[in-house]
Amino acid sequence: MIRDPESFQVFLNETRRWVKEVAIPAEDCVEADDQIPEDLVGQMRELGFFGWSIPEQFGGAGLTTEELVLAAMELSQCATAFRARVGTNTGIGSEALVADGTEEQKARYLPLLASGEVTGCFALTEPEAGSQATALRTRAVRDGDEYVVNGSKCFITNAPIAGLFTVMARTDPEDLSAKGISAFIVEGDTPGLSVGRPYKKMGQAGSPVSEVYFQDCRVPAANLIGGVEGKGFVTAMKVLNKQRLHLSALCTGPAMRMRDEALAHALQRQQFGQPIAEFQLVQAMIADIQTEIHAARALILETARKRDKGEDVKLEASMCKYFASEMCGRVADKAVQIFGGAGYVADYSCIERLYRDARLFRLYEGTSQIHQLNIAKLTLSAAS
Ligand SMILES: Cc1cc2nc3c(=O)[nH]c(=O)nc-3n(C[C@H](O)[C@H](O)[C@H](O)COP(=O)(O)OP(=O)(O)OC[C@H]3O[C@@H](n4cnc5c(N)ncnc54)[C@H](O)[C@@H]3O)c2cc1C
Repeated sequence: MIRDPESFQVFLNETRRWVKEVAIPAEDCVEADDQIPEDLVGQMRELGFFGWSIPEQFGGAGLTTEELVLAAMELSQCATAFRARVGTNTGIGSEALVADGTEEQKARYLPLLASGEVTGCFALTEPEAGSQATALRTRAVRDGDEYVVNGSKCFITNAPIAGLFTVMARTDPEDLSAKGISAFIVEGDTPGLSVGRPYKKMGQAGSPVSEVYFQDCRVPAANLIGGVEGKGFVTAMKVLNKQRLHLSALCTGPAMRMRDEALAHALQRQQFGQPIAEFQLVQAMIADIQTEIHAARALILETARKRDKGEDVKLEASMCKYFASEMCGRVADKAVQIFGGAGYVADYSCIERLYRDARLFRLYEGTSQIHQLNIAKLTLSAAS
């Protein structure tokens, strides 16, 4: 649902302009320095990027799902680091509070996340709990008005720069199922919380990811999200359900960028006396790229509209994430092919970097295999 098409178009144009005129020209510097220049982070704050999905009453833009995915497709057409910088605030790092936080928790933390004053992150994954997230071992033991948290998390996006951590921890040691898990908001300066050094990664330079450690970390009981133990995994799944749709849009933007780069190259690069775009075998790759992007966009927009109507989109959201992330991988591969050697050499094109950035999409927030299993399970249960 788009609430006011005219003003929404102005907002999309503004985002597109910033991506083209500010972010894309800064990509090489982000790659070289492995960080986004602070003045550009400031611009993203001023433009309201951090609060897109946070309700207006807490300082965000309160975008509907359809508006959010359309905006995400624009912002993700520059290096992934830019949208990852804001993406934990306007996504997994705030959504647990939006979905299940108490009124006090929302009022205290959401404005800080919406303005970008504080960076959020979402800490679910652990060394022994990846695809099997319910196997997490981080413990939170109640002690008076506090919980004492011990354990560690790995692969947490924005942890090195985060001021607010959404943390999944086991509150019931007897219950090893999802029901033994609770969600907490932990402030970054809480004694006993520390983060590791940012990992060296295959791609997405400028997006810091690290481990998080809890050693007798005392968290106020008031920071138990929703105020009820044992609801953490349900909260996490709510977060990931909406986020799957959001992420599928964030996989489509890079594919659109790579299409545009590949088209420009195919029209300009001459071989055998003509632009390579005139060769039918190159055209076949262009046709596949264009068709795949169109299919992903259509699937995502249809699902977003369904969600805005309040319908259950568990199945569709999983299909969106699976299809869009795999689609982006296929588009990235074809874009390298259209560029030829220049697609492999960073000195000659941005495609080499975009190809590496895209590889993560099939791994996080549910690997493709986990989504295949989920899609099959939901399809089979509807049929039986
Ligand atoms: C850069 C980066 C950023 C991340 N950011 C975050 C974050 O902010 N917060 C967070 O909590 N996590 C984050 N993650 C973690 C990410 O969500 C996990 O890496 C992902 O869920 C996969 O878990 P795993 O790496 O342990 O792989 P594993 O679960 O060990 O999977 C390895 C392989 O086995 C397959 N596999 C596993 N189980 C099955 C099965 N039942 N059937 C078939 N195949 C299976 C997988 O599909 C995969 O191919 C991030 C990861 C990375 C790399």
